[in-house]
Amino acid sequence: MAEIVIIGAGPAGIAAAEMLCAKGLKPILIDEGARAGGQGYRRPASDLALDMNRLMGSEAEKYTALHRRFETLLPRLDYRPQTLVWAIDGSTLHLLRDGQAETQPFDRLLIASGAMDRIAPLPGWTLPGVFTLGGAQVALKDQGCLIGNRVAFLGSSPLLTLAAKQYREMGAEIAVIADTTPFSAKIAALPGLLRAPRTLVRGLWYMGAALRAGIPLLHGVMPIAIEGESRVEALVLRDAQGRERRFACDAVALGYGLKPETQLADLAGASFAYDPDFRLFLPAIDSMGRARPGLYLAGDGVRIGGADAAEASGALAAQAILADLGHGQDIAVTRTLARDVGRLRDFQRGLARAFAWPKAQIAALPDSVTLCRCEKITIGEVRAAMAKDLGPVEVNRVKAMTRCGMGRCQGRVCGPALQEIVAAEIGGDGAAAGRLRGQAPVKPIALAAAGSTA
Ligand SMILES: Cc1cc2nc3c(=O)[nH]c(=O)nc-3n(C[C@H](O)[C@H](O)[C@H](O)COP(=O)(O)OP(=O)(O)OC[C@H]3O[C@@H](n4cnc5c(N)ncnc54)[C@H](O)[C@@H]3O)c2cc1C
Repeated sequence: MAEIVIIGAGPAGIAAAEMLCAKGLKPILIDEGARAGGQGYRRPASDLALDMNRLMGSEAEKYTALHRRFETLLPRLDYRPQTLVWAIDGSTLHLLRDGQAETQPFDRLLIASGAMDRIAPLPGWTLPGVFTLGGAQVALKDQGCLIGNRVAFLGSSPLLTLAAKQYREMGAEIAVIADTTPFSAKIAALPGLLRAPRTLVRGLWYMGAALRAGIPLLHGVMPIAIEGESRVEALVLRDAQGRERRFACDAVALGYGLKPETQLADLAGASFAYDPDFRLFLPAIDSMGRARPGLYLAGDGVRIGGADAAEASGALAAQAILADLGHGQDIAVTRTLARDVGRLRDFQRGLARAFAWPKAQIAALPDSVTLCRCEKITIGEVRAAMAKDLGPVEVNRVKAMTRCGMGRCQGRVCGPALQEIVAAEIGGDGAAAGRLRGQAPVKPIALAAAGSTA
């Protein structure tokens, strides 16, 4: 029987596994996390007394249903939690499980590795007390911790108001929710946002809840700096009316939307194309998620779409696997799934306009700002390297010359901002700036583990 491996036990991976198991197949489901559910539907440890129903709010029913479905599925699956896929070599996965290196061959590979925060640097962003927005949510949902007592939320993402609501419910004070995109952009994006009216209403409700709670909810701000002696003390910004404002706080959550985690797809041989709406290079797939023969991509790891789109695209990719293995596919199911995925991903395109990636703000950052915190490289060092005769003009050469993106995170954090700095230096063309190529190990591992299998 063909060995089918799914990477990622979030909504996409679980939905795919369900569809394959329903046809009597037994896929291997690998996830580096200790518990299934993925990022948004993260499940806390059982000894942590967190009221997830309260925390998940209107998503509580879907959250509970997904975990219940997973429990039902478990006896029919080969589920491998706490297992990191750190490299892919031909048709072999390199794994790290409980500190031990292993390999796993596959015939069909479905990567549903989810997304991570997209971060725009600003002066002071390396101070203790600054977290990514997703990191702030992980602290809450995984460990029951708040990142601070008085938290400022800065960036441009619908998740800012959602995370602020979750923090408020768990006892934090919210200093400000500051969005860099003007409100007019949200109005202009309305036609696209109407593709998912229920999600739109939920987003508006979160905004309303923040306003009702008396939280400053600002649009169109220009971040100036995060200030503090040895840790965060305040967020300083210019509001849409041009006034400089200082919000005292002891933590800042930074989030400019999500970017797909594409390194594994890259190592598995997917090809990439530039998407000007998201200003990201994304893996090329067909309408069912095929990236090349034997390789399938689904969920936020290939296109940001949210949990519902992730589930539908996971099921769709499973249909593709079934069809390719000669099990046939249910045409009616495939059509419905493809329509849902298309609609929800269109909605995300609308969101990308309503909550825009701040390319102009990044291009205007001063030289002194740290760009790559792993290797301590400033924006000025990147600009200086590019200004030299025969200096680098695309991101991989910039990385080679400056070490920006060469540290522990392998450019997963600084990559998007690096791409904008490089694009600005060559005249603004994001596509010409290029993309950082995926490199193994995709996440830090012990050298001994790499040496024993690679
Ligand atoms: C930090 C964060 C918080 C979020 N919070 C919310 C929220 O509160 N509400 C909301 O509506 N949406 C939220 N989202 C978005 C939401 O998580 C997604 O839309 C949805 O979960 C996507 O499902 P998925 O299955 O594609 O990926 P995910 O749910 O992200 O699942 C991907 C899985 O792949 C695993 N994985 C990744 N790389 C590897 C590897 N190399 N080896 C092994 N396993 C790997 C991860 O551990 C993860 O479990 C959040 C996203 C992030 C990144």
